Amino acid sequence: MLAGAGLIRELLYEKNTGIETEKISALIQNMKKRGKSKLQFVALGGGQEVGASCYFLQIDDAYILLDCGKSPAGSCAPDFTAILKPPFLESLGQISQIFISHSHYDHIGALKDLADQCRNAGVYATPITKALLFHIFWNLNNRQRYLSENAQELDEIMADITIRSIIETGYCREILLPGYTATFYEAGHIPGAAMVYLQTLDRRILYTGDFSCRASALTSPYILPETLSFDTVIICGLHAKHPNLPPGRDLQSQLSFIKRKLEQGRSVHLETIQLTKGWEILHIMNKEMRKKTMPLLPIYIDRSLCLLAEEMERMHIPVREAWNYVGTPPRGGQCIMIGRNPSPRFMSIKVDFSLHPTYRELADFIEKYNPKTVVLVHTGTSEFQTEANYLEMELLAKASSVSQLIYAETGAIYTL
Ligand SMILES: [Zn+2]
Repeated sequence: MLAGAGLIRELLYEKNTGIETEKISALIQNMKKRGKSKLQFVALGGGQEVGASCYFLQIDDAYILLDCGKSPAGSCAPDFTAILKPPFLESLGQISQIFISHSHYDHIGALKDLADQCRNAGVYATPITKALLFHIFWNLNNRQRYLSENAQELDEIMADITIRSIIETGYCREILLPGYTATFYEAGHIPGAAMVYLQTLDRRILYTGDFSCRASALTSPYILPETLSFDTVIICGLHAKHPNLPPGRDLQSQLSFIKRKLEQGRSVHLETIQLTKGWEILHIMNKEMRKKTMPLLPIYIDRSLCLLAEEMERMHIPVREAWNYVGTPPRGGQCIMIGRNPSPRFMSIKVDFSLHPTYRELADFIEKYNPKTVVLVHTGTSEFQTEANYLEMELLAKASSVSQLIYAETGAIYTL
């Protein structure tokens, strides 16, 4: 943990970061002079909605983006109007760092579009997230309709340059940046997902991204060091207003439905919105078949999914089993397809599920870390939504709680 300038100096030498001594001294002097850190926050998308998670955070002279998402169809994208005016930025060229929490499209979709404008920003992601990005952008490029081959080639080149320039950042490694440090911690949710911990001399901020408190098909729950503390959290509040949503309801009910159809002898095509979701459902189906809770049937996947699975296997995340095949299933015989091109011979089932903390897990997380400021973003709606702010009432009832909740509205400016 950073306790002062002396410790920063020690850490820098210890980690052999290669930053020149004069630069370190200037950084320390600057931090000493500054006093209280200035913290401003704007949700550029994904405030009280899901679809384009992109958050602007100013820490003194550092202008940071936390995620760069948009919807796959492009119907919602980040809106930079609030920060492209005084007292913030003249241009997006002033963005200094972009931290990518994980590879779901609503957190990375706008990265390619912003690459040129944010050309001075260092972009950070875990190695798995970076590897997943290649597949996601490649997959999407092949789905888009382009006016010409040149337009497609240019788009692919842009995606390639954008992803190659990402700085791979492992978990638990402190990155030293002008005025603050950043550390990634495992967020659960999907492989490669990270929480981002930002620290100045007087502030400690955690951005959770999407995270899970329970193990999922491919990940463990989130992992934070026991001694970690933070005064401010920007947290995924998907179920903050859903105190009565049963945990795992979505996935379990979908699996039961698929199982019923398979037991009736139907062949099914499992349709997923995102490539990573296809990969997750492949793993879930294989797991169910291994446990014998589902009939053992051949599963046919498309080429994109196969390439993604191969890449992840190279990164020691095995998914495929002996009963998995690539390509179009032969005529006759019951089987399962996972991919984007449904066949009229198959019953098509849309599969979508979320691996986010439930209301209870969210409340317990806030109570455990007891941060002074809780900025809730990425909140969602469902039939279980309540108008009453149960979360606030629950925290108020706890004598030890000091947490103040902010439901961040997209475009509004918050001084934290
Ligand atoms: Zn996600």
